[in-house]
Amino acid sequence: MRFTLDASFPRVVFGVGSFGSIGAEAERLGVERVLVVGTPGRAILLDDAIRLLGARSAGIFGEAVPHVPSGIAARARECAVSAKSDCILAVGGGSAIGVAKAVALTTGLPIIAVPTTYSGSEMTPVWGLTEDAVKVTGRDARVQPRTVIYDPELTLGLSASTSVATGMNAIAHCVEALYAPDANPLTSMMAEEGISVLSHSLPLIADAPRDLGARTHALYGSWLAGSALGAVQMGLQHKLSHTLGGTFGLSHAETHAVLLPHTAAYNADAAREAMLRIARALGGDDAPGALFDLNRRIGSLASLAALGMQITELERAADLAVEKPYANPRPVTRDGVLGILRRAFDGERPSRQLT
Ligand code: NAD
Repeated sequence: MRFTLDASFPRVVFGVGSFGSIGAEAERLGVERVLVVGTPGRAILLDDAIRLLGARSAGIFGEAVPHVPSGIAARARECAVSAKSDCILAVGGGSAIGVAKAVALTTGLPIIAVPTTYSGSEMTPVWGLTEDAVKVTGRDARVQPRTVIYDPELTLGLSASTSVATGMNAIAHCVEALYAPDANPLTSMMAEEGISVLSHSLPLIADAPRDLGARTHALYGSWLAGSALGAVQMGLQHKLSHTLGGTFGLSHAETHAVLLPHTAAYNADAAREAMLRIARALGGDDAPGALFDLNRRIGSLASLAALGMQITELERAADLAVEKPYANPRPVTRDGVLGILRRAFDGERPSRQLT
C-alpha cells in the first residue's frame, strides 16, 4: 500500500440546534463584523442569522445564484468592503457558499458556512466563477471555510426534489473520490460510508421530507462526501457537470444526478476496485445500474432532455469537456464523452456487472 494524505478539514459543529451557536463560533474566530450571504427567497433564515449574531452582524448580501457569475461576485465583494466585514457567514446551499468563496478568494476573509443542502461545498477549498458563459474552477486554501455548522433542522423545508438532487451530487463526490488518482484510505472510507448513508436516507426523504432522523443521516452523508471532495481530485463526472451548468445553464445538482450512472459505466472497467466498493455501498454488484435505479427510486429527473438540454448542444458540450486534460481512470475522448451525453440525453439504463 502506498498513499499520500494532504488534506485539512474545517472545524465542524454538527447536530440539531447547532445553528444557535453561530455567535459563539464567530466569537471563537475573533471576528466582529460578519456579513451574511445567502440566496433570494431565504430572507427569514438570513434574518435569523443576523439576530443570532447580534452586535457582530454587518448586514446581508442576499443575491447569491448558482455558478457564481462574475458580476454577482463583484457586487458581493463591494458589499463586504463597504460593510467593513471581517468574516463571511454563508447560510444556504452551494450557491451561497460559492459567492462567499468568491469574496474570500480576493479578500482573504474567513468563512463560516452553514450548509442547508447536501452538495458539500462547505468542506472544500474549491471555488468556481462563471464569466462569459464559461465556468472556471480552482483550489485555494483561502476559500475553505474555517468553521462549518451542520444543523439538520435547517434542511426540513428543503424540497424533496432539491434534496434528492443535491444528495446525488454528494454521491457523485464519493464515486469520483473512490477512483481519484490521489485516493487514500481515509477518503475512500468516507466515500464508501457516504454512499451507503445517502442511499439509505434519500429514499426516506423523498417519501417524507420532514423526517428529522433521515435529514440528520443525509447531512452526515453530505459531510462525508464534501470531506472526500475537498481532499482528492475529481474527474470526468465533475468536469462534465460544470460544463453543462456553466455553458448551457443546466441545474448543477440535477445534472450530476442524471450523468452519474453514465460516467460510472464509462469508467467501470478502468476502476474495478472503486466499482466494487460503490456496488457494495449500494447493496448490489452493478454500480452504474444501481446508481440509475437509486435515481428512479428517489424521483430524480431521468435525462438531459428532461433537464432542458437540446440535442443540438451535445457536440459543443463534448468539445468543451475535452478542451483541457484532467484526471480520470479511463482516458477521456471526444467520442467517449459524446456517447455518455447521448445516453444521458435519452435517459437509458446503463449496466456493468462486476464479478
Ligand atoms: P443551491 O445553493 O443553488 O440551492 C438550490 C435552491 O434551494 C435555492 O433556490 C436555495 O435558495 C434553496 N435552498 C437551499 N437550502 C434550502 C433549504 N434548507 N430550504 C429551502 N430552500 C433551500 O443548490 P446547490 O446544489 O447546493 O448549489 C449549487 C452550486 O454549488 C453550484 O454553483 C455548484 O457549482 C456549487 N458547488 C460547489 C462545490 C465546491 O466544492 N466548490 C461543491 C458542490 C456544489
